[in-house]
Amino acid sequence: MNGKFILTCSGCGKTFAPSPELYLCPDCSRNNDTVNPPKGVLKAVYDYEILSKHKEEVITGNFWDLIPLLKKESLPKLRIGETPLYRFDRIDGETLTFELYLKDDSQNPTFSFKDRASAVVSAYARENGISTIVAASTGNAGSSLAGICASQEQKAIIIVPKSAPHAKLTQIVMYGATIVPVNGTYDMAFDLSMEATKEFGWYNRNTAFNPLTIEGKKTVSFELFKQLSRAIPDYIFVPVGDGVIISGVYKGYEDLLKVGLIDRMPTVVAVQAAGSSNLIENIGKPDFTIKPSNTLADSISVDIPRNFFMAQYYLLQYKGEWLSVTDDDIVNASKILARNTGIFAEPAASTAFAGMLCYQKNQKLLSKQRVVVLLTGSGLKDLKAVSSVINIPNAIDPTVDSLRKNEWIKF
Ligand SMILES: *Cc1c(COP(=O)(O)O)cnc(C)c1O
Repeated sequence: MNGKFILTCSGCGKTFAPSPELYLCPDCSRNNDTVNPPKGVLKAVYDYEILSKHKEEVITGNFWDLIPLLKKESLPKLRIGETPLYRFDRIDGETLTFELYLKDDSQNPTFSFKDRASAVVSAYARENGISTIVAASTGNAGSSLAGICASQEQKAIIIVPKSAPHAKLTQIVMYGATIVPVNGTYDMAFDLSMEATKEFGWYNRNTAFNPLTIEGKKTVSFELFKQLSRAIPDYIFVPVGDGVIISGVYKGYEDLLKVGLIDRMPTVVAVQAAGSSNLIENIGKPDFTIKPSNTLADSISVDIPRNFFMAQYYLLQYKGEWLSVTDDDIVNASKILARNTGIFAEPAASTAFAGMLCYQKNQKLLSKQRVVVLLTGSGLKDLKAVSSVINIPNAIDPTVDSLRKNEWIKF
């Protein structure tokens, strides 16, 4: 192994030396088209045999041995990851029998989980003398890359559907990136960014297409391992669009398994919006069929999941589970989460919480089980999504008398 890691094709298993020009396996991706999920997504592999002889050092080194970078200084100055894990005992006054843990990734610099991937891609670009990075995005990957690049003196070009939530578009512009809104869906933005990457020779951060996005996202599992004092969660609920976060969660635990730090995998539960559930609907099917997506959870509104094959492999290999929840479930979960915990999550993140609530209702979460919900983005990124369910009352006269008179004001 030359350097810290090599890349292997998740389809055929061929191995490659990493390079910024290498994205997908050249053989498996040859017949990729724009109507099926891409084949040939690459996976970073480390020298697990050597690392397993020094497993405690892997922990004390904060898993740096499992990060595909040469120098820590290549990473942004901003604090990426190391987000809080909170335990809550009650929901709506009811004491939970299982242990509920919320991993709050809205506490990243640009307020979403995507910073984990952007940080590693940006650092890798730096180590390879690249100063411009392009990404297609539903909104969060773009606002994340824009913010991370701003902190690293790099240039970001972000291609997004013009319908992305206003806060995310605003972030992209404020961080000084070149924003390219398109008349079309996320999938169209994705295809355009791929063509442009080929045409102009840009470095591309697209999710899954750039294998380092998975490497960045896997760091959440290393943190959970530490925060839970090495215990493996019984369930981890993950919101799923393209299927890269869920693959990252699996990849992190798989790395720990290969190094010998854990001896079993957690049960990961993929939660999709019912209006955008092409990933879970196609698991195990011989041909991929697409239903056009339609959900208010914009971050997981995806027609063609870019990491379908890897996510499917992980879910089947490690006996994962999956379900979908409706937009009503999502908005409702968002309210329950906010009023019980003080965490205001965006719809995509509330999707994972809705999945957990569904398991709870069906009594699938047993006493003492450790249940983690990944909260992947901040509710302030998409205020419109909840506007239909909140009611900001009319103003009152600023007098004690009107406080007494308006009976909806409860003391
Ligand atoms: C991107 C995103 C997801 C889904 O991640 P995928 O890798 O596309 O499955 C979930 N929640 C939020 C907030 C996101 O930005």
